[in-house]
Amino acid sequence: MNAGGTRAGTAVGIDVGGTKIAAMRVSAGGEILARETLPTPADDMAATLGAMVQAARTVLDEGVRAVGVGAAGLVRYDTGTLTFAPNLAWRDVGITAHVAGALKLPTLTDNDANVAAWGEYRFGAGRGAQDMLLVTVGTGIGGGIVSGGRLFRGANGFAGEIGHTVVEPGGPLCGCGNRGCWEQVASGHAITRAGREAARENPHSLIAQIAGGDPNRVTGPLVTEAGRRGDDVARRILAEVGRRLGEGIAGLVNVLDPRVVVVGGGAIEAGELILEPARSAFREAVEAPDHRPEVPIVPAELGNDAGAVGAAVLALEGLGG
Ligand SMILES: [Zn+2]
Repeated sequence: MNAGGTRAGTAVGIDVGGTKIAAMRVSAGGEILARETLPTPADDMAATLGAMVQAARTVLDEGVRAVGVGAAGLVRYDTGTLTFAPNLAWRDVGITAHVAGALKLPTLTDNDANVAAWGEYRFGAGRGAQDMLLVTVGTGIGGGIVSGGRLFRGANGFAGEIGHTVVEPGGPLCGCGNRGCWEQVASGHAITRAGREAARENPHSLIAQIAGGDPNRVTGPLVTEAGRRGDDVARRILAEVGRRLGEGIAGLVNVLDPRVVVVGGGAIEAGELILEPARSAFREAVEAPDHRPEVPIVPAELGNDAGAVGAAVLALEGLGG
């Protein structure tokens, strides 16, 4: 009736990851009206919940009607419980119960990549694509699936955990306990690992130079910087990671048939140095590329705001407002 008008109000979105907590007050139209960021006391879940509530209170006002939380890990959508976080010690945390109890507002909790997918679908690179896959490539790989204009969550809310498919049996150990997960060969982990190896093998390389001669100081962003400056070794590393990324996306496109694949996360700072090899590997690996519409693989548009914006708007829409 009055959707998008004053009745729709505003919501607070909270994006909680391993290093920081971002809280934003967001309008129904996706506009960010206030924001607060706090470090995550990741080793202490009670303190993390406290910091989430504190960050939310900083941006709250009387017009806020709901709270949406995106959390890194497996989130039971029905109860708003985080059951497991692959790279963190968080287990069986009742996020919705805690936040709703503290703030006295309707609250929903979902996986961080799911809410980011919703943000990109409603206001970012996935606008208008009712079937969309978001792949977030940061330290690990997360995924969010929009299918028929709705988030696809599976039976428990655990769908879209695309980073933990084993693609290299016996490969590098993953934070989830398995070996050779996709996120070990196609994310920031892989860039960092290959960058350190390259710096060790060739102390005169640009990567080693930028790291001040200490291979252990090589990070994904550092490899990206070397690649941007034209370094061949860094470009090869990014291209290889892009190739593994594109191959994985091909498998997901075979399963999900999205209109568009949106790629977000920190590794996307490397831009076309990763995306271009990803697109060509995708074309080689996807089933019958000449007999299907082209599936664009495009960079995300909302950056680090996608999660909090998506969580807030999802919470508002959950009210039916
Ligand atoms: Zn894994």
